[in-house]
Amino acid sequence: MKASTENKTAQRVPSLDLRRNYARIEKEIKEAIDGVLASQAFILGPDVEAFEEEAAMYLDVPHAVGCSSGSDALLLALMALDVGEGDEVITTPYSFFATASCIARLGARPVFVDIDPRTYNIDVERALERVSSRTKAFIPVHLFGQMVPLEAAIPRFRERGVALVEDAAQAFGSWRRSDGEYFRAGAAGDFGCFSFYPTKNLGCYGDGGMVTCKKSDAASRLRRLRFHGADHAYLHEEMGLNSRLDSIQAAVLRVRLRHLEEWNEERRLIADRYGMLLAEKGLLEVVRLPEVLEGNYHIFHQYTVRVRGRNELQRFLAERDIETKIYYPLPLHLQPCFKYLGYSEGDFPEAEALSKDSLALPIFPELTIDEQERVVDAIAAFYAIKRQKG
Ligand SMILES: *Cc1c(COP(=O)(O)O)cnc(C)c1O
Repeated sequence: MKASTENKTAQRVPSLDLRRNYARIEKEIKEAIDGVLASQAFILGPDVEAFEEEAAMYLDVPHAVGCSSGSDALLLALMALDVGEGDEVITTPYSFFATASCIARLGARPVFVDIDPRTYNIDVERALERVSSRTKAFIPVHLFGQMVPLEAAIPRFRERGVALVEDAAQAFGSWRRSDGEYFRAGAAGDFGCFSFYPTKNLGCYGDGGMVTCKKSDAASRLRRLRFHGADHAYLHEEMGLNSRLDSIQAAVLRVRLRHLEEWNEERRLIADRYGMLLAEKGLLEVVRLPEVLEGNYHIFHQYTVRVRGRNELQRFLAERDIETKIYYPLPLHLQPCFKYLGYSEGDFPEAEALSKDSLALPIFPELTIDEQERVVDAIAAFYAIKRQKG
């Protein structure tokens, strides 16, 4: 309680507060859910179809197939590519666990490639170097809302028969412009995988996910795979999953998708303001801001900085009721369950360094200027005290 004496307005700054967002759309959401309740069509159904169409239109991609989570979206995409034993799939060691578990779960081998320390995203050139005769797919992750620059690599992976499966779980609405051409996160490769977990920038009110693709045969395969491998009831062409999107979640997503552009813009303003406030306080020597690659429309799913004395700073902020997060404390190649892959500490120094100094500051569309100022003031106080101590 020491903090409250230093800080008179000791109101908590949460890293995310979904209640504030709900307050903005409560009426629309209730109407949408009421519609599903009236129809009693809970699994797939008209709202799922409508959402799939609207999402495909928004992303400018021919097909979108709803499913039950982002993890399943990745699994379904790899299943549709017949990834299995003996195959390799290249991805980043710096992501949420599901990015790699989908590979291992199918008996294939995750092959990790280090990140670009500026963007925190996988280094695409290095990924190309790791392509072997066994490589079936490449999974870049558009981490924290910023797209991986894929345009130069797309034809080179294609030439070598490697499918491109984008993990766009944190990047709905993110895009990139290069040489006058636009690339949308999740619509640039062969498959795009999305998560609608409630904390994602486009979240629903439970679990949900989606896979996008360009080819209609791939879309039919995905639809079959999410429904026990059956095109028609009780006739199973192959082994699939039970991985459907609920109608209530689709109804929620239809409402939230209509507001997404506005919310993404609000996130970008908050990110800009963090940059300004941190610079104003002279903190740029000790706090490294996230870099936005030229041409990128970063939607700041997270605002992740790199800091000196990360754990100490996080504790200091927590004592002042400011909540921050660490994405991710342990890179994937060092996870106990992937020990059998034979990686060890030192294999991916950039990812390992980032896991030790990254800190995600509070960001969500409704975060106020006052709250941001309090976050930055507290960071400034931390480094002022450190300087005094020498
Ligand atoms: C959230 C997330 C997933 C998994 O999504 P779920 O809906 O939670 O299964 C996969 N990849 C990344 C990068 C994520 O952030």
